[in-house]
Amino acid sequence: MTTLSPLIAGNWKMNGLTHSLDELAELARLMTAGAAPRAVVVVCPPATLLAAVAAQGASSGILAGGQDCHTDASGAHTGDIAAGMLADAGAQFVIVGHSERRAGHSETDDEVRAKAEAAIGAGLKPIICVGETEAERDAGTAESVIAAQLAASIPDAAEQHELVVAYEPVWAIGTGRTPSVEDIAAMHASIRAGLVERFGSERGESIRILYGGSMKPHNAREILSIENVNGGLVGGASLLAKDFYTIISAV
Ligand code: PEP
Repeated sequence: MTTLSPLIAGNWKMNGLTHSLDELAELARLMTAGAAPRAVVVVCPPATLLAAVAAQGASSGILAGGQDCHTDASGAHTGDIAAGMLADAGAQFVIVGHSERRAGHSETDDEVRAKAEAAIGAGLKPIICVGETEAERDAGTAESVIAAQLAASIPDAAEQHELVVAYEPVWAIGTGRTPSVEDIAAMHASIRAGLVERFGSERGESIRILYGGSMKPHNAREILSIENVNGGLVGGASLLAKDFYTIISAV
């Protein structure tokens, strides 16, 4: 099996003002003070801070990512942001299909796939999010729900272009609850099997699968050591440099 360098991405969501760059500076200080982190580190701030995060993070190896992009390259879409604009601001990644956008903006798998295609077209690496609701988990359909979301959300272009999958159970996001180690292992194994089936073993094994949903300093080491967990997508705990660095160091 290919050894994938783990990736830890922080999703600041709709949090952060100019003074939040102090937190980024502190993260950079922590990351450069000791041994170099074993993880690829990405921070996805609100769009207003993207260029500043990209510029400020460059010297310490912190990469920048967007939180969403439009499917079109430009046009009459007031308030939206194109993938090319994120790249122009210095982003290398973009989150697409986060459950908060699927729920709050009624985004469908088809739209998520189109966004991922737009991101790839702009030279970005999409982080494609999928996740089951609590009702779906209770009904025993979590694995089939995720398989269906992945089949429809991942573009065929994944065969030649880098992208990342993030498994984020909806009921674990921002709640402090996480699935058991066994449940995470089973879901990530099932996602891996689906990727291998669709893209062949070499390509399917080379796609990172992140876990997201209440990853915190106290549980990161355990979660990150599960087979087929190739990193984490971190919300709340990415807002404080100290906490985010503890998670990065848990790799
Ligand atoms: C997220 O929003 O992607 C997330 C995982 O949030 P939290 O870590 O706060 O649960």
